[in-house]
Amino acid sequence: MEYKKFKDEIKLSRLGMGNMRLPIKADEPGQHVDYERAKEIIDYAMEQGINYYDTAYIYHNGESEKFVGKALSDYPRDSYYVADKYNLQANPDYRAQFAEQLERLQMYYIDFYLLHGVQDYFLEEILGNGCIPYFEQMKEEGKIRYFGFSFHGSPDALRRMLAVRSWDFVQIQLNYYDWLYEDAKALYEILEEAGIPVMVMEPVHGGMLADLGEKGNAILKEGAPDSSIASWAVRWVKSLKNVQVILSGMSDMTQLKDNIATVSETEDINSEEQKLIEKACALVRKNTSVPCTKCRYCCPDCPVGLDIPYLLSFYNAAKLDGIWRLNNLKGLPKEKQPSACVGCGSCAKHCPQSFQIPAYMKELEKMLEEL
Ligand code: SF4
Ligand code: SF4
Repeated sequence: MEYKKFKDEIKLSRLGMGNMRLPIKADEPGQHVDYERAKEIIDYAMEQGINYYDTAYIYHNGESEKFVGKALSDYPRDSYYVADKYNLQANPDYRAQFAEQLERLQMYYIDFYLLHGVQDYFLEEILGNGCIPYFEQMKEEGKIRYFGFSFHGSPDALRRMLAVRSWDFVQIQLNYYDWLYEDAKALYEILEEAGIPVMVMEPVHGGMLADLGEKGNAILKEGAPDSSIASWAVRWVKSLKNVQVILSGMSDMTQLKDNIATVSETEDINSEEQKLIEKACALVRKNTSVPCTKCRYCCPDCPVGLDIPYLLSFYNAAKLDGIWRLNNLKGLPKEKQPSACVGCGSCAKHCPQSFQIPAYMKELEKMLEEL
C-alpha cells in the first residue's frame, strides 16, 4: 500500500475504505449490514495496509458506525484512523449526536471528524448553530484529532466555508466526469490554493465510471486492455497532487482487490490517456440523463419508502434505450412503483446533486402508463 504524509504528522493510505455501501443481508428488507461478509472486507483491507475508514451517522441507518467500531476492535487503536460525520438533518443536536457516535463506535476519540455533506441551502444554518465551536472544543479535549467537512455545494459556498476557520481537510466529490462536466475542478483548485488536503469521495461516481457502456469501455480498453474500467477513474484521481485519500465504498472483495491493485500503480495518467478518458466520458455524458451517485441520502425520509436510486437507474436506461427498459419495473409491488410518490419533495432536499426527483418520478409514472 502506498502512503502519503498528512500534515507532516501521520501517514494515511492512499486508498480509504468507505463504509456507506457495505454488503447487506439479501434475505432481509432494508439496509442491514451483512456482518460476516463486511468483516471479511475490513480484515483484508487491514491486512493490505489500508488505514483510513470512513463512516457517518446516517450510513446504513446507524449500523455502519456500529459495524466499523466492532470490526476494527480486533486491531490496535493506533493501527487505523476512523472518519465520522455530523449530520445536521438527521439530528441537529450536535452534542447528542457526537455522544451517540462515540457510543456506537465504542471509541474514546474520532480521528477525522467532518460536518456532513455541506450544501448551499443549509450553509448558514450549520455555520450558526454552535456545532463548530463545540467540535473545536472536542478537538481540544482530544476527542477529535482533525476537523474538516465534506462538501456538495458551489464554489462560492466553499469559499465561504474556508473563510470561517482553518480546516484540517475537506472531502469533495471528485472524478473525471465531475471535473469535465460539473464543478469539481473549481472546488479542487480552491482547496489546492488554500493548501488544504483533499479527501476524495465518489472517485468512480457511484459506479457510473466502472461501466461506460460498450463504446466507452472499448475506448479505454484500447488504451489498457488488462485494466478494469473503474481503475482508470481511480488512477485519474490519484494523479492529482493535492489528493490525500481516495475513498471508495467497497461492497465486495473484487472491488477491494481491484482498487488496491490500482493505487499500487505508480504511473500517473498521461496526456494520451487523458484524451481517451475525455472521449469516453463524452459518450457517458450523452447517454446519462440523471448521473445519480447512488449515495441514498434521498431514501430514509421518503414517506412511502421508494428505492429512488434504483428507480432512477431505470429512468436512465429508458432515456437511453427506450421505455421498453421499464418492463422490469412493472413487476414491482404498487407501493414501490414511481406512482406511489406523493411529491413531498423531501428527497430533492437531501440530494447532494440537487436532482428534482419528484419530477423524474412523475415522468417515470407517465412512461410506465405508456408501456
Ligand atoms: S417526492 Fe416522492 S420520491 Fe421524493 S421523498 Fe416524497 S414521496 Fe419519496
Ligand atoms: S438521487 Fe441524489 S440523493 Fe438519491 S441516491 Fe441519487 S445522488 Fe444520492
